[in-house]
Amino acid sequence: MEIGRRPGRGYLTGTMHEMSLITNILEIAAERAHQAGDPEITAIEIEVGQLAAVEIPALRFCFQAAREHTVGAQAELVIHEIPGRGVCPRCGEESAADFFAAVCPACGQGVLEITQGKELKVRSIQVASD
Ligand SMILES: [Zn+2]
Repeated sequence: MEIGRRPGRGYLTGTMHEMSLITNILEIAAERAHQAGDPEITAIEIEVGQLAAVEIPALRFCFQAAREHTVGAQAELVIHEIPGRGVCPRCGEESAADFFAAVCPACGQGVLEITQGKELKVRSIQVASD
């Protein structure tokens, strides 16, 4: 199901993408909780790069739906957004990049090579202590 194509990003996004990410995040959380003796998970903190082609509202929606009947059923999803940055291969300046293939604002010639903002990772899993 295609929801929309965002110009300049070259990505097709849809809720299925976010749902598979959330499934994966919940699996990581369940694994960590299991290692800690299966306490209830209270919060899952993730980092989402602004260039990660992830729709945060869709991510939250999928989390609400997917966490039921899992060890994360009561967990809060804490999202840290990581801004996009890139380095110009022509002049070497580092700049903010809010989309892929952004032209260097310093020299107007080079296309920024993205150095930050593509990440999507679990930062921490918080569990209930007894
Ligand atoms: Zn440049």
